[in-house]
Amino acid sequence: MDLASYVQKVYQELHAHPELSSQEAWTASYVARELKQMGFAISTQVGGHGVVGLLDAGRPGLTLGLRSDMDALPMGEETGVSYASQIPGVMHACGHDSHMAMVLAACRYAAENKERLQGKLLAVFQPAEEVGDGAKAMLEAGVFAQVKPDRFVGIHNWPSLGVGSLGLQSGPLTANTDSFTAVFRGVGGHGALPHRTKDAIAMATAGVQNAFALTQRYTDASYPQVVSFGVIQGGTTFNIIPETVTVAGTVRTMRLEDQEQMIRLLHQAFRAAADLYGGSYGLDYAKGVPGVVNDAQVAAELAEFFAAQLPDVRVVSEGLASLVGEDVGYFLQEVPGVLLFVGSGREGAVNELHNPRFLVPAEALVTGFRALVSIIEGYLA
Ligand SMILES: [Zn+2]
Ligand SMILES: [Zn+2]
Repeated sequence: MDLASYVQKVYQELHAHPELSSQEAWTASYVARELKQMGFAISTQVGGHGVVGLLDAGRPGLTLGLRSDMDALPMGEETGVSYASQIPGVMHACGHDSHMAMVLAACRYAAENKERLQGKLLAVFQPAEEVGDGAKAMLEAGVFAQVKPDRFVGIHNWPSLGVGSLGLQSGPLTANTDSFTAVFRGVGGHGALPHRTKDAIAMATAGVQNAFALTQRYTDASYPQVVSFGVIQGGTTFNIIPETVTVAGTVRTMRLEDQEQMIRLLHQAFRAAADLYGGSYGLDYAKGVPGVVNDAQVAAELAEFFAAQLPDVRVVSEGLASLVGEDVGYFLQEVPGVLLFVGSGREGAVNELHNPRFLVPAEALVTGFRALVSIIEGYLA
């Protein structure tokens, strides 16, 4: 089977069998079996269902790491394709199936051309990306303990870019993705007698407004950052002022100093709100996935490979940064590399990740696979 057919076959088989984060057992065995057949040395159960394959060309050279994520999402599929999810309520709606297909096809290319190559190829298949746990768990399990990549490339399909294009931008690309929960505590009582209470609802609403205001006035607008609330909870019925109200949200920043400032500002905002109405607050802030910062040298090297080997492919190199989270950032803190976007948008199609009608087009798989091949040729040939 030629590699263009192989990438489509693997994509469709994986698409039909999506598995949720941290439950990727079938997927892991599929990936391990394919790698083994190609002649890779395999490690399984690396940080959960992580699979690592190593191909040693037997001649000194660089070690190139390629990373794909593996997990799917808790949502029902509505695409109507013949290879649609066979698991009710679970769908590969973020295209991690396509990433596995592209990386496996690239691995097969490397295996078939091993006699011509030098150095090592380390294929990293990471579980639990959607929950932000997998990369960290693989690092803690020693994914780079034996063989540490000199260059590392993660891929993600990107529907804001058209099929047939690639997105490769140097520097900050995604956000430090944090979460927080704050509880405002007052004294509950009768809605008709607020003067005998310490109103936690008043504290919470003021706290939310303070947070929006402070993060608008204290932060440097040259650097993208945002605070959003997704939860506000409290009370039981219309005439009881509750004792506590809980709010929860997310903070996205691109620089570590902005992250630290956001934590200070949330405390300031919530403290002022609690003080105003005579109550107290507690803030539980959890730093999450670190932002992806693409290595300038690796980005420049890849741009050279693409220019030389893929003259027909448009490479977009700006305007790609956003405040989403991607846990490949953990790997990129350890080894120099980039997160490469593979254009997956089509006119007239649903171009939204995590949408029940989203699919990665066949043409995108080919472009992504060709990009990975050019990287293998560039570093290992
Ligand atoms: Zn996703
Ligand atoms: Zn994703």
